[in-house]
Amino acid sequence: REEKQCPLDSPMLGNNTWSFLHTMAAYYPEKPSAEQQNKMEKFIHLLSDFYPCHKCASHFREDLKTNKPVTNSNTALSKWFCEFHNRVNVRLGKAEFDCSKVLERWRDGWADGTCD
Ligand code: FAD
Repeated sequence: REEKQCPLDSPMLGNNTWSFLHTMAAYYPEKPSAEQQNKMEKFIHLLSDFYPCHKCASHFREDLKTNKPVTNSNTALSKWFCEFHNRVNVRLGKAEFDCSKVLERWRDGWADGTCD
């Protein structure tokens, strides 16, 4: 069946956004400058202001009050996004992801060559 070119619904938007965010974290520098760390923190806060699912954005802003982004390395940022995504997974009744595998999933690829 041919893919329909429809506007995104919120699960599709979420799925695409997580792909982007985890990939961005996976390619973030291992030793970011102070300016890069500062910009990444701002980026995350700005995203929570403009994320176009308003209920999700409101949860996101609430979460940021107690879970400050950790931006001092690629590994730390990837772990932070993974744990953030897991808090959303738990809220939605979805399975938690094993964060020790986040770079395998989003940068290096699974050893068996599968994608998900
Ligand atoms: P997704 O959760 O979109 O995950 C995509 C893929 O990421 C998975 O297939 C898996 O391989 C991988 N993955 C899963 N967990 C992790 C993890 N912890 N770390 C790394 N990789 C992982 N939906 C709501 O209904 N209410 C909300 O409040 C809400 N808030 C959101 C806030 C943000 C910032 C974002 C980006 C999305 C939010 N969503 C929310 C959408 C929701 O998280 C899912 O994206 C959506 O339900 C589609 O789920 P999915 O099953 O396609 O998998």
